[in-house]
Amino acid sequence: MKKRRTVAALVLAAVALALCSVRPEALAQSRRPVARRSSSAVEHAHESTGLFSYMTVERAMIAVCTERSNDPLGSAPIDVMQARPSMDVDDPEVVAGAERAQRLLPLAKKYAIASLRGLATEYGVPAWRVNAAAARMQAVTQIEPDMDLRDNAIVYSDDARTIYFGTIFLIGLPSEEGMISVLAHELTHLGDGPRDLLHPLFDLIGKRASNLTGLEITGRRPEELTCDVVGARSVRSYIERAPSNDTVARRLARGVEHNCVTEDETDEYHLSPRSTLRAVFAVNPALARAIIGGTSDDTGSTSIKRYQPSRVTTSPSRAAGTHPHHRLR
Ligand SMILES: [Zn+2]
Ligand SMILES: [Zn+2]
Repeated sequence: MKKRRTVAALVLAAVALALCSVRPEALAQSRRPVARRSSSAVEHAHESTGLFSYMTVERAMIAVCTERSNDPLGSAPIDVMQARPSMDVDDPEVVAGAERAQRLLPLAKKYAIASLRGLATEYGVPAWRVNAAAARMQAVTQIEPDMDLRDNAIVYSDDARTIYFGTIFLIGLPSEEGMISVLAHELTHLGDGPRDLLHPLFDLIGKRASNLTGLEITGRRPEELTCDVVGARSVRSYIERAPSNDTVARRLARGVEHNCVTEDETDEYHLSPRSTLRAVFAVNPALARAIIGGTSDDTGSTSIKRYQPSRVTTSPSRAAGTHPHHRLR
């Protein structure tokens, strides 16, 4: 907490300094061509932009987790789900969750494919790759609840039509937005498939997120991060087309808020949940701004007081398979 405050204070000081130092110069030298600005001034402006986006990301993380805690349909955080007992597939809540997933699957396919197309254009990935992945995603038709999967969803490369859902996970995602995000995540794994169709995109997004956040994003993590980015973007597309009485911020938050954990632990495949949030917002500043800009009434200054930065554990203390939406093979 203390460290964060210090960083925030430094950022404010740097921004204030930048504003103070630019203004008189701009007034005094208003007739000078822009090209004559000194290189140090340019560097300073660049650095300020970086600081602004850092603040945007941090504020969006606070906003998401505040929305989650006030939302009757908020997703359960990953660490809370992990602590719950497994539910039987016949439990009415599980049945309702599976029906919700099955009903939203066509929409999730549509928006996940559209998000991938947008990302491919943005990152310069050949269209044939997304077209081939989209064909695989269109073939997914089944949701299969599985008690033993607990708080995970899993897809198997030799069963390209089915997304398997742990019963705890089905119950932990009561909102349509939360469900669409997880479905889009799993669909992205299935779209990638055994030919690794989407790996060039995974690598580019992983590198960009790493450059922006300083996080080490290697191994399977670029893929998991990209699946989460597709999930968050799919929710945004869904919200634009399906009106609701809930605020845009609350609805956008549902796409990522299962990462609002207290125990911020990681495994060998994923970034920690809070690092995932940070990376998703770093590569989607527009999403971060939309969440900050569209917060509900009770997310003013009080939300900052309520925010408890969690302890960061970097050791892979979590056993593989206990994290949501793994692809095992
Ligand atoms: Zn792959
Ligand atoms: Zn995954």
